[in-house]
Amino acid sequence: MISVSEFCPRCQSLQTVEVTVSQREEVDADGNRRTIVTKSYHCVGCGSTLRSEDFEFVEEVGDSEAGEIGQQATEGETRIDEKHD
Ligand SMILES: [Zn+2]
Repeated sequence: MISVSEFCPRCQSLQTVEVTVSQREEVDADGNRRTIVTKSYHCVGCGSTLRSEDFEFVEEVGDSEAGEIGQQATEGETRIDEKHD
C-alpha cells in the first residue's frame, strides 16, 4: 500500500492519502491487449476518494502466448520473455 500526504479539501488539512492500484485487462477487437491501471486516492481522515487516475497501456500481441503480468513499474527495464519456437 502506498501512502502520500496531500491536502484534503474535505478535511481542510494535510492528510495521509492512501493510494490503491487496481488493474484490469481488456482485449479489443484487433486482439490487442489493453491494460487499464486505476490509481485511487483515499483520504484516511474522512474516507473520501479524492480522485482517481486511469492509465492505459496497449500491447500489440502477435503471439497469443501471454505470460503472467507483473507490475510494470519502470519503462526502462526491458523484460525478455521466453520464446517458444
Ligand atoms: Zn479528508
